[in-house]
Amino acid sequence: MKFSKILLATAAVATAAAVAAVSLTACSKSEEVVSDSDYLNKVSQYGVWKNTAQTSIPIYQTYHHVHDFLDACTIENGSAVAPNGKIRKVLFLGFDGMRADALPVILQTGAKVANNSKTGVSGISALQQAGGLYLAYCGGETNTDTQQTTSTSASWTTHFTGVWGTQHGIKTNDDAKNLDHKTFMLEYAQQGLSTSIAFDWDQYFDVNLKEEIKYVMANPDVDMTFCDIDRAKAEKLKKTYAETLELYNYVAPETPSDSAPYDTGMRDYVLQRIENGDDIVCGIFHNIDSAGHEYGFGTSTQYNGAVMNCDLYAYSVLQAIEAREQTENEEWLIVFANDHGGLGTGHGEQTLEERTTWIATNVPFSEEYYSDGYDGFNVK
Ligand SMILES: [Zn+2]
Repeated sequence: MKFSKILLATAAVATAAAVAAVSLTACSKSEEVVSDSDYLNKVSQYGVWKNTAQTSIPIYQTYHHVHDFLDACTIENGSAVAPNGKIRKVLFLGFDGMRADALPVILQTGAKVANNSKTGVSGISALQQAGGLYLAYCGGETNTDTQQTTSTSASWTTHFTGVWGTQHGIKTNDDAKNLDHKTFMLEYAQQGLSTSIAFDWDQYFDVNLKEEIKYVMANPDVDMTFCDIDRAKAEKLKKTYAETLELYNYVAPETPSDSAPYDTGMRDYVLQRIENGDDIVCGIFHNIDSAGHEYGFGTSTQYNGAVMNCDLYAYSVLQAIEAREQTENEEWLIVFANDHGGLGTGHGEQTLEERTTWIATNVPFSEEYYSDGYDGFNVK
C-alpha cells in the first residue's frame, strides 16, 4: 500500500517534468529539430547532380555564369548579339526556401518516381536534362568574415552581384546593398538592355535594393524595372520601411496581382515581361518559403505541394521561352535556384539543411566555378 503510493507520487512528478519539457521545446520554435550531420552526404547521393558535395558551387557564381553568357555578345541597339547572330537573353527564377532534399518530390532519384518529371512537366527536370543540376551553398564560409545569414536578402543579392555580403553590404534581411556591387540586371541595363526583377516581398525593395532603385529613378534612360507584384499604389505613406511615398509607389505595378499568394501571380508577371521583350527577366517564387515557415521546411505536405506547384509554373515559363526561340532568333540562358534551405520552421543559421542549396541551368557551369574540398561549411 505504502509502496504503491510512492510509485504514484513518483509518476506524478515524472508526468509534471514531461509536461514542462514539452512546453519548453514548444516555445523554442525550430530548436527542437536537430540538424542531421549527414544531410549533405545524403543529398549528394541522389544521382541528379553534375558536381559533387566537395565541389559545391558558392551561389555568387550565378552572377559570373550570367556574365560569361552575355559578355560573349556585342551589345548594340539595345540587344546582346552573340557571334552566331542570335539575340541572347537571360531568365532567372528563384525558388525561395526550397531545400535540396525537396528535389526528390519532383525528380527521379534512384528508384523513387516523382510526379512532375514522370509526367514530363517539371521545369527543374527540363533544365537538368538540358544543362545540369548543381549542388551549391549559401551563408558564406562558416566562422570567417564572409559568413552571412542563410536568409533571403543576403542570398539573392549574392546570386545577383557575384560577391558575399561582406562586399555587397547585405548580411541580414535588414541591410541595404551598396552601389559598389551592382546586380547584373542593373549592370546590363546601364549597357542598354531592358531588365527586370520581380518579387512579392516588400523588404527586398524598400530596404535591400533601395539604392539601386533610387539610382534608376534618377537615371530614367536605364531600363530596369523593379516590381513588387502584389503592391497597390498608395496615396499616403503608411506603415512601411520605404523611405518616401515616391519610392513606395515606384515599385508598385499598375494592377497589383491578387494571385501572388499562389505564385501564379509571379508566373504570369514573368510571362508578361518575356512577352514585352525584356532581355533579362528575374522573378522569385515566394510560397515554398511561406509554407516552410508555417508548416516546416522539407517535411510538410504543404511545403512539398508548393514545390510541385512552383516547378509546374517554371515549366510553363520554359515553354514560353522555347516558343520564342523557334520564332524570334533568340537564345536564352535559364537559371533556377533557391536562396537558402531551412530547418524546422526557420532559417538563417549555419546548419547543413539551411546552407545546402542547388542551381539548375540549361547551360552547364564552367568547372572553374566549382569549389574545392567543400565540407558543408568551408572550402579547403
Ligand atoms: Zn528566402
